[in-house]
Amino acid sequence: LFLVFEGGDGAGKTTQLDLLEQRLHAEGHPVERTREPGGTDIGERIRSLVLEHGQGDVDSRTEALLFAASRAAHVTQRILPALAAGRTVLSDRFVDSSIAYQGVGRGLGVEDVAGLNAWATQGLRPDLTVLLDVDPEVSAARRTARGESADRMESADSTFHRRLRQAFLDRASVDPASYLVVDASRPAEEIHAAVLGRLREVRP
Ligand code: C5P
Ligand code: MG
Repeated sequence: LFLVFEGGDGAGKTTQLDLLEQRLHAEGHPVERTREPGGTDIGERIRSLVLEHGQGDVDSRTEALLFAASRAAHVTQRILPALAAGRTVLSDRFVDSSIAYQGVGRGLGVEDVAGLNAWATQGLRPDLTVLLDVDPEVSAARRTARGESADRMESADSTFHRRLRQAFLDRASVDPASYLVVDASRPAEEIHAAVLGRLREVRP
């Protein structure tokens, strides 16, 4: 089973992944916890390369290709082998982040970025994507509270974050059976319970 958590920065993905990982672990399910950009040696290097560049000064197409390359390695080296071994894969971000950030946020276009990533992933799709939907003002406050600076140009730009939010919601609305959209301003334990409830429908 391949589960992905998506949402803007400060939506609470890491918190929810921690809770779910602990729970599945306690139930005796083998879990593979991972993240993007990253998840492999080469992927983590690409992550550092792009994010340390900062200030949004990596050319948009270059960024989209680098993140797609990170994802190709992630799928081949990590996700597919884990799924083949019967593990539940939990990923912090996947293709929808590229569609939102690079396709919509940076204006490369949803179809082109989706096509690039369909190739990079060999068409692999999550069994379920949990979209943590959050008002950009709430997530900005969370990021500030945990001391995250605006390491990327757009981090401080609320228009950018509103477009991202809509991009994620659009993805979910195209294929509602594969998504759980939750209001990320709710308490973490409530969100976790909603995720577990949906998971029991996907994997009884
Ligand atoms: O949430 P995470 O720590 O994985 O994201 C790191 C940074 O990468 C964030 O600033 C996020 O906005 C950015 N990002 C991006 N495009 C992606 C995925 C993440 O710009 N496809
Ligand atoms: Mg995070």
